Amino acid sequence: MTVKTQVLILGAGGAGMMCAIQAGKRGRNVILLDHAKKVGGKILISGGGRCNFTNLGASPNQYVSQNPHFAKSALARFTPSDFIELVQNHGIAYHEKKLGQQFCDGSAQQIVDLLLSECKSAGAEFKLETRVNSIEQLPEEENPLRFLVTTTSGAIECESLVIATGGLSIPKIGATGFGYEIAKKFGLALVERAAALDGFVLSTEDESRFGGLAGLSFDSKIEVRGKVFREAILFTHAGLSGPATLQASLHWYPGDPVTVDLLPDLDVFEWFLSKKKTGNKSIVRNLLSELLPARLSERFCELYFKDSRPLPDVSEKELRAFCEVLKAWTFVPKETVGYSKAEVTRGGVDTNELSSKTLEAKKVAGLYFIGEVVDVTGWLGGYNFQWAWASGAAAGAVV
Ligand SMILES: Cc1cc2nc3c(=O)[nH]c(=O)nc-3n(C[C@H](O)[C@H](O)[C@H](O)COP(=O)(O)OP(=O)(O)OC[C@H]3O[C@@H](n4cnc5c(N)ncnc54)[C@H](O)[C@@H]3O)c2cc1C
Repeated sequence: MTVKTQVLILGAGGAGMMCAIQAGKRGRNVILLDHAKKVGGKILISGGGRCNFTNLGASPNQYVSQNPHFAKSALARFTPSDFIELVQNHGIAYHEKKLGQQFCDGSAQQIVDLLLSECKSAGAEFKLETRVNSIEQLPEEENPLRFLVTTTSGAIECESLVIATGGLSIPKIGATGFGYEIAKKFGLALVERAAALDGFVLSTEDESRFGGLAGLSFDSKIEVRGKVFREAILFTHAGLSGPATLQASLHWYPGDPVTVDLLPDLDVFEWFLSKKKTGNKSIVRNLLSELLPARLSERFCELYFKDSRPLPDVSEKELRAFCEVLKAWTFVPKETVGYSKAEVTRGGVDTNELSSKTLEAKKVAGLYFIGEVVDVTGWLGGYNFQWAWASGAAAGAVV
């Protein structure tokens, strides 16, 4: 028997559930379909298990897209305060960690429970552990039903079909490229995809130089393509991680150099000069370890300073050249870490194909794309969930 519904949403993550809530509240019949056993898998693993559910400063400026204006409309209509109001209404304790980032005090499960409870109140029905076999457009007639979706739990006909299947990151919890396949099937263009917010793998040469620093973390300023982030960097066995590096990986394209200021608050050349003037006789490496972790200071001295003379024996020219490396250590990563660790997929359904107000495909009436599957990718810090909520709400208001 074919089930008929007004709205069928593929993907019960943050975007899909928010869309279901808004559409259900308008009195629309909604079915949410997901191949996973449980809804909101990414929410559960987000923010170290505490879900950084929004950012107070969210604006279109923190999103990467081929059309930087696309996200404006949806973000303006469902704001961080709107989501925080929901969090407060559900009695969930939360706090700001830093830089406007809002986290649950308890567990990310509370955000999933909030969404499930709102979906229930809105009358949305879930079909979990269900796979889609095919999607066909129904002939345009008087009949408002536009799509026939055959699934492992039977056939469903719907007026509006919403694609909220997310991106490719973390395949082991069920991420697939299904949304991109649907876009292709309907002739919609895609922007090239890449794993992002995942950090860098160093070149083989750099890995042999810096691999020994694994586990070492330090405050830094990192720059790629003119974007600058001030946060911690963490050396790993094969590369660099930590929040500053994750941010940089979102803006990085193969071959781009990455520049790190190891001492962002200090004119380190002036600092060495002042030590020189006061007659300090320490060797440079020991002096530098007053400013940087000892292992880091030692490695940079070995690589870029060569010997370990006392400060009075070092010329200003040599000192200046070394300080330039410390202020602008530049390397070209081999690649980013990849989808097994990435928080997001950059790229996706080309925004030129969608209405920025409703997220409906311009070429296919009744077909919507929301959340991460769209070419709108947020920085680290709660911005990706804010896009999931906002794009879900925008579609939910019209489907
Ligand atoms: C480790 C990690 C931590 C993160 N932390 C944060 C954070 O703290 N703050 C933040 O803002 N963002 C964070 N993100 C990013 C954020 O989780 C995503 O951007 C967001 O979940 C995207 O929402 P979505 O609804 O578009 O897609 P998803 O949440 O990925 O939901 C897609 C749903 O579609 C289902 N699906 C996929 N393919 C199919 C298919 N073929 N058939 C049926 N169903 C399918 C999936 O099972 C899933 O339930 C994190 C991501 C990761 C991986």
